[in-house]
Amino acid sequence: METTEYNTEINTVLNDMPDGCYILNKDFQFIFINDAAINYFNKSKEELLNKEIWETLPKYKSTKLLPMCLKAYEENMKQSLIMKSRQDSIELNIYPTKLGLLIIFQTSTDHKKVVNETAYIERLKTIGEMAAGVAHEIRNPMTTVKGFLQLLAQDKNEQKNQHIFKLMVEELDRANEIITEFLDLSKNKPSIPQVTNINLIIKSLLPLLETRALKENKLIITNLSKTVDLALNRNEVRQLLLNMVNNALEAMTDNGVCYIETFTDKYENVCLVIKDEGEGICPSITKKLGTPFVSTKESGTGLGMSICYSIAERNNATIDFTTGSKGTTFTICFKNK
Ligand code: ADP
Ligand code: MG
Repeated sequence: METTEYNTEINTVLNDMPDGCYILNKDFQFIFINDAAINYFNKSKEELLNKEIWETLPKYKSTKLLPMCLKAYEENMKQSLIMKSRQDSIELNIYPTKLGLLIIFQTSTDHKKVVNETAYIERLKTIGEMAAGVAHEIRNPMTTVKGFLQLLAQDKNEQKNQHIFKLMVEELDRANEIITEFLDLSKNKPSIPQVTNINLIIKSLLPLLETRALKENKLIITNLSKTVDLALNRNEVRQLLLNMVNNALEAMTDNGVCYIETFTDKYENVCLVIKDEGEGICPSITKKLGTPFVSTKESGTGLGMSICYSIAERNNATIDFTTGSKGTTFTICFKNK
């Protein structure tokens, strides 16, 4: 390559890099500014180029940027600086060069977001552990109550109240079921994988799913392609499929179709797709999907998706989804190695 070609290449690289980058000459005029920096300053290239930074962007005059620039010249050494504002914090490196000062900066809103999310997940974990403890403690008295109810139900004087006893026991069983599901979630029990095929798991569950769909005037259509066998926990994957198809059916009105598909992606991963024609996931919960007890349903437990996410994690799979007013598509991608 000729030197000029190199120069254009270097120019393109600097221009396209995700970090903000600009060069100020000795008079603090912009002699180069890349796209990321133009975006950040929210001005046009013409408004900036060949203009003095303190004039076009007066708010920087009262910051540490000016003294740090002077220091970079004085000491002829790189200077680093972090400037915090209300929205973000930017990290700047100022390099003295022959052309003037080369300034490269990154905004760290993204970094902050990651930190916040990690803290959030940690908090959730603690809450989850506490809740699991509480849930376990609730079970014991419930068992006692259930036992006495069953005893009372056998009493001759109580025969007329049989339906009430039945209802009470059923309600206790339902509460117990919810606790079991919840405990399963937090247990992170080691799963015992067996070599099996995802299509077999789907086929074995299909009669159950189809019966349920037909009862509600809905349809399940499968489109299964040949996929390799994987080491999976069969019962867990069945549970995942069940929870997701339940949600799909619940999201649709009469005549809705739920599609279950399998395919192999370009990385040889086995993908399971569950697609519905429902109203889409409520935007207020898309970010929280998978958090225990997040539900928009009157009698929903909000545990189904959390269980799916923990099953996916244990079975080396990821869950992605797209959603909109025409329906929702979940793709569960089982890693092949
Ligand atoms: P539940 O079904 O008990 O409400 P889930 O954890 O299974 O709990 O689902 C949580 C929430 O996610 C649901 O209440 C619903 O709002 C939303 N959701 C899940 N799957 C779908 C879907 N296929 N279409 C629309 N919304 C969905
Ligand atoms: Mg559900």
